[in-house]
Amino acid sequence: MSDFKQAIQWLGEGKKVRRSSTNNKEWYIFLSEEIGEEGFVCLHHTINFEPKLWSQSIDMLEATDWEIYEEKKESLSEGFELFFYSQEEVKAQIKTCEGNHVQQVAYSSYHDAITQICFGCKKIRTSLKKEDLNKK
Ligand SMILES: [Zn+2]
Repeated sequence: MSDFKQAIQWLGEGKKVRRSSTNNKEWYIFLSEEIGEEGFVCLHHTINFEPKLWSQSIDMLEATDWEIYEEKKESLSEGFELFFYSQEEVKAQIKTCEGNHVQQVAYSSYHDAITQICFGCKKIRTSLKKEDLNKK
C-alpha cells in the first residue's frame, strides 16, 4: 500500500500502477510516450485495454492503496464465454460492440458461419452449431 507520491515514482521507472481497491482488475495508469498539448507528460489509463487520457481526481491523489500493476499474460483469454446465436443475432451484436469494444470477426464460408470475439464483452459469439465444433 503506497501513496500517489510513490506511484509517481513507479511511473517514472516505467511501471504501471493501479489502486488495489479498483474493481476493474485491468485498470491501471502508465506514463505515455506522447507529450500533451501543453508539453506535459500524459498519463494514460486503460478501460478494456484501450488507452485513454487519464484525468486525476482528488480521491485518487489522496489514495494510499497504490500498487504496481502486474501484467497477466493470459488475461486476454481468461474468462471468455462462448455463446451460440443465429447469424443475424451475431451481426446485430457486432454492431452493438462497434465503436465501444475491441472486437475481431471471422467468417467461414465452409460453415456459412460468422464468429465474433469481443474483448470488451469477453464473449465469443458464433453462429456455428455446437455440433460443428466437435467435428474434426
Ligand atoms: Zn462487446
